[in-house]
Amino acid sequence: MPPILILLGAPGSGKGTQAKRIEAQLGLPQISTGDILRDAVHRQTPLGCKAKAAMDAGNLVPDDVVIGIIEERLKRDDCVAGCVLDGFPRTVTQAQALGRLVQNRFHLKAIQMDVPEEDLMKRLTGRRNCVKCGAIFNVYFSPVEIDNRCDRCGGELVQRADDTAEVVKNRLAVYRQHTQPLIAYYDRQHLLHTVDAQGDVSEIFERIHRLIRQNGAGGGR
Ligand code: AMP
Repeated sequence: MPPILILLGAPGSGKGTQAKRIEAQLGLPQISTGDILRDAVHRQTPLGCKAKAAMDAGNLVPDDVVIGIIEERLKRDDCVAGCVLDGFPRTVTQAQALGRLVQNRFHLKAIQMDVPEEDLMKRLTGRRNCVKCGAIFNVYFSPVEIDNRCDRCGGELVQRADDTAEVVKNRLAVYRQHTQPLIAYYDRQHLLHTVDAQGDVSEIFERIHRLIRQNGAGGGR
């Protein structure tokens, strides 16, 4: 069965960055509920209108909304060989729904991205995203050559509205309350793997890649 990799970790642990690498190097499409929701907000679709207030405050969008998004997304052809989930599931209810959706079609592998709590604030408030190509930089850890311009494509860099200090504090609290329990949830099912997500982006990718290779296509440790 094809794999679904679940990147589990606090906001700022590098899920998006690593999911993009996995997509580019291993060919598994990145599915980010955050990106899908942000796009809907930007286009002011009914979904976007429903999600906007929760996202602006750093709260979670209702479970049924995100479960519906994932259910539809997994039906697309590009997922036949598997995918990497970035930002989903975020609650036990979502994880249970995912388990039902993938039953007998995919196997799950949860990868916990381990970062010390004190690093997360700088990672998030320093993050800048390219509006053109989606590349992610950080004013503290990976500054760009020219202020506010993407090193790769020259596009404008912006800060996500929910990366401000106040909203970040709430997102971390929401993570601790709702998402952290998923670590024990997947551990109980022997689907949990942990990587040290500190340091160089390429090194972290190598750790993840090694883990995927070591464990082959089968789940468990
Ligand atoms: P992210 O880009 O993953 O940090 O997500 C940004 C925001 O989108 C979150 O703070 C939530 O408001 C919303 N969101 C993304 N994924 C989920 C999810 N699986 N469940 C609930 N809300 C989500």
